[in-house]
Amino acid sequence: MNHKPSLNEYTMKHYYLLFLFCCISLAVAAQSKPTFTGRETIDIRVPTPGLFANSNKLVWNLDSIGKDKYAFPLPGAKVISGYGTHHRRNHSGVDIKTCAKDTIRCAFDGVVRLSKAYGGYGNVVVVRHGNGLETIYSHNFTNFVKVGDQLKAGQPIGLTGRTGRASTEHLHFETRVNGQHFNPNLIFDMKAGKLLNGTVKCVKKGASVLVKKLTQ
Ligand SMILES: [Zn+2]
Repeated sequence: MNHKPSLNEYTMKHYYLLFLFCCISLAVAAQSKPTFTGRETIDIRVPTPGLFANSNKLVWNLDSIGKDKYAFPLPGAKVISGYGTHHRRNHSGVDIKTCAKDTIRCAFDGVVRLSKAYGGYGNVVVVRHGNGLETIYSHNFTNFVKVGDQLKAGQPIGLTGRTGRASTEHLHFETRVNGQHFNPNLIFDMKAGKLLNGTVKCVKKGASVLVKKLTQ
C-alpha cells in the first residue's frame, strides 16, 4: 500500500526547515557580532586574543584610511599634557582639553570592548578597531556607549569630565595594541588635531610590543 504523506507531515517538514533556517541565521549573526572574554570587558590592559597568532608583526597603513573612516577625538582641543615620562611619572596617554561636557568622538570605526568607571581613569571607554588598534577615552562626565556597540568614526561616545584622578575637565586619550599603550603621536598629530600619513609597524617581542613609525 502506498503511503501518502498527510498534510500534517508536510506542515511538520516546513516547520522543521524554518527552524533549521532560523538556527543558521542566528549562528551567522552570532559569528558577525564580536564577543569578548569577561576579562576584556573589565580590564584595560588585556592582550587581544589571537592578534599575533599568525605573525609577530602588524602593519597599519594610515594612508589607506578614508576621510570618513577617522575623526579627531576632541576637535579643537589643545594638548595640556603629553605622552611619556614627566616629573618621574609615566603618562600612558595624551591629555587634551576644550571645555566641560564637550562631545568626545570615536577615532575610527570599531566595537566597544569596555565602558565603565575604572579607578583613576574614571568613566572610561575602550574601543577595539579592526586592525588590532585600541583607543581609550577617559575621565568622561558620562559614557554614551556600552560593550558590544559597533561605532563609526566620529560617533559621539561621551562627554568630557573630570571623573577618576583628574584635576580639570579634559580627555585623557590613549592608543594601545595588545593591551600595551604607545605614543598617540604615532597615529595623530595631537597638537594639530589631524591623522598622520605613513605606516606604523608593531612587532611583538616576548610579552611587549614595539610600535614605531616606518620612515618612507
Ligand atoms: Zn592623562
